[in-house]
Amino acid sequence: MIRCTKCGLPETYETIEYDDRGICNICHQKDFKDEAIDWAARRKILEGIVEEHRGKYDYDCIVPFSGGKDSTFTLYYLVKEFKLKPLVMQFNHGFMRPTLLKNNERTFKKLGVDVMSFTPNWKVVKRLMLEALIRKGDFCWHCHTGIFSYPMHIALKFQVPLVIWGEPSSEYTAYYDYREDEIEEVDETRFNRFINLGITAEDMSGMISDDFELDPRDLAPYTYPETRALKRLRYRSICLGSFIPWDVKRQVAQIQEALDWRGDQVEGMPWDAYPYEKIECSMQGVRDYIKYLKRGYGRVTQMTALDLRNGRVEKPDAKRLIEDFEGRRPPSLDLFLEYLGLSEIEFNQIVSRTIVPPFQPDFEAIEAALKTWDFEEWYREPQSDRGIPKRSV
Ligand SMILES: [Zn+2]
Repeated sequence: MIRCTKCGLPETYETIEYDDRGICNICHQKDFKDEAIDWAARRKILEGIVEEHRGKYDYDCIVPFSGGKDSTFTLYYLVKEFKLKPLVMQFNHGFMRPTLLKNNERTFKKLGVDVMSFTPNWKVVKRLMLEALIRKGDFCWHCHTGIFSYPMHIALKFQVPLVIWGEPSSEYTAYYDYREDEIEEVDETRFNRFINLGITAEDMSGMISDDFELDPRDLAPYTYPETRALKRLRYRSICLGSFIPWDVKRQVAQIQEALDWRGDQVEGMPWDAYPYEKIECSMQGVRDYIKYLKRGYGRVTQMTALDLRNGRVEKPDAKRLIEDFEGRRPPSLDLFLEYLGLSEIEFNQIVSRTIVPPFQPDFEAIEAALKTWDFEEWYREPQSDRGIPKRSV
């Protein structure tokens, strides 16, 4: 596979392009972010937006919150720097881990914020995971659509127009480009561009209602609210990272210091080098594994790419981390297969249909990843509930 000569991202990476020196567009975006964006001016814009909304509604803003490093930093920054009164909105994807829950409790108590949590119907979630896996080789549809649409419903219900997210997508992909100097609005256009995999909730309803007892209201949490209603509210939905230079390592150090935020082991990751990345979800290992099987890279490549770009790791060390950790079979795959009622052969067949050439996985050569410390505490479906309940005819 072709790889970026600077950061190592391969040609199977979404939105990637290379220049004639073999350097990728995401590396170029990073240079632009460092050199050409007037961050002082951006911060002024943010101050303007904040002052426009302060004190006028039940809450100054809504902060969608997973408890990972980015949303924790965002919440911390808004409360500490701007003294905002946010409503924290948590969409529970169903796989929250013990360390995360403890982090969240400490964060909420230390910052003194109101929190709402929403957990969608697990039986529906399982059916959605199966359908998205089969159609796109990506079972996270329910989580990504829910995380990005549900807080917008809450904005409407509470009539709070300002929604503030964390990192901008231009940190990792080129769907939005720092170079165009446009400020990324987290809106329906963006939702349809790369969040929902090209499957709307309405499409999804048609795909699963033949064999699944679906109430028409079941998919409401995954449906983006009407643009008309949002416009009437005069909503703004923005990323903090569009206004301050996003620096994950520095931000993690800040929340560790201020909130006692703790990292965690993640399946398939080097635990010493990256103790803070994607600790939110017990199915993260399965997600990364599928990405590897489809595209020949996983989270280790993504993290080392970021560090190579920032000059924080040497190429040989990055290469070694990738060789030692990437593409291992995660122990959580057993739980995942039980949830969906699949055999591993069926799983491999499904994933094989979505492989992105020129990558070709070698299922025979795959080694196992280590169990994380909390593996035994992760939800295990009882024998009688495994798989997806079928619609009674
Ligand atoms: Zn690159």
